[in-house]
Amino acid sequence: MKVIFLDFDGVLNSVDNMNSYGASIRSRYLGDDYDAMAISKNLLSETRDKYGQLFDDRCVRWLEYIISSTGAKIVVSSTWRMAGLSVMKEMWKFRKLPGEIVDVTQISQSGIRGDEIGDYLDFYHETIEQHVVIDDDVDDLFDTPNVVQINCYTGIMSYDADKIIKILNKE
Ligand SMILES: [Mg+2]
Repeated sequence: MKVIFLDFDGVLNSVDNMNSYGASIRSRYLGDDYDAMAISKNLLSETRDKYGQLFDDRCVRWLEYIISSTGAKIVVSSTWRMAGLSVMKEMWKFRKLPGEIVDVTQISQSGIRGDEIGDYLDFYHETIEQHVVIDDDVDDLFDTPNVVQINCYTGIMSYDADKIIKILNKE
């Protein structure tokens, strides 16, 4: 099995996507119509669902491309996994997101993501033939192999997708 350890914030979400929501919503209330309450209400209703912040559609399309090109399965390493595996699976279905979530990494005492992924790789080394770690924050991933760092301002870009596919399809 090929596995993608997937972070969400800064990877499937992007700062630019959130900024564009903010700018477009604020632009409806220019000048005398300025209404801070309405703006924050719209921000909440238009950028979130019951699971949390909506993902950037462009980044989701790159994820679909990665998964179609590799057949990789998803293991959630994002802090969103605190909600539990079943909620993650439910969200994937509800939002019609690409691919299949098969697991989440364990939450370790140290809270170091590299340790959590390392433990997972050790435990499942017989079933995982190839893996990639996708994250915008790599500070605690220094010991982890096959990390692709994403710019949180944009989320996944085309060149990230190509790099990820190359790693996952390596013989
Ligand atoms: Mg992140």
